[in-house]
Amino acid sequence: MPQQLKALSISDLNEVGRYAVGMHWSDGHESIFPLDNLRRHCPCLKCRGEVKGELPQDARRLHQLIRLGEAAVFLNWRDGHETIYTLPQLRALCRCAYCAGEPEKPITGG
Ligand SMILES: [Zn+2]
Ligand SMILES: [Zn+2]
Repeated sequence: MPQQLKALSISDLNEVGRYAVGMHWSDGHESIFPLDNLRRHCPCLKCRGEVKGELPQDARRLHQLIRLGEAAVFLNWRDGHETIYTLPQLRALCRCAYCAGEPEKPITGG
């Protein structure tokens, strides 16, 4: 079993204002995920990670944010849609300076 994936877990998860979710990883990494981004990349069978066009307000606002153990995150949207992200899927969405390929830049905290 790959040691890295096995070691990856959530150390902290919280809503950041009304439009983003902040996450601290067990390896010390920090991510900020804009809700718009999370909805557009929803991996469910209906969305398949490619939601295009204008999103209604309720499709970009969270009703509930629930941590599923240490391996996944459940998002319940105001419009009733439900999204489950596994940690590797979330990590792939991280757009911090480090993940975007600019490791020279320090990760700036909120
Ligand atoms: Zn979906
Ligand atoms: Zn990152």
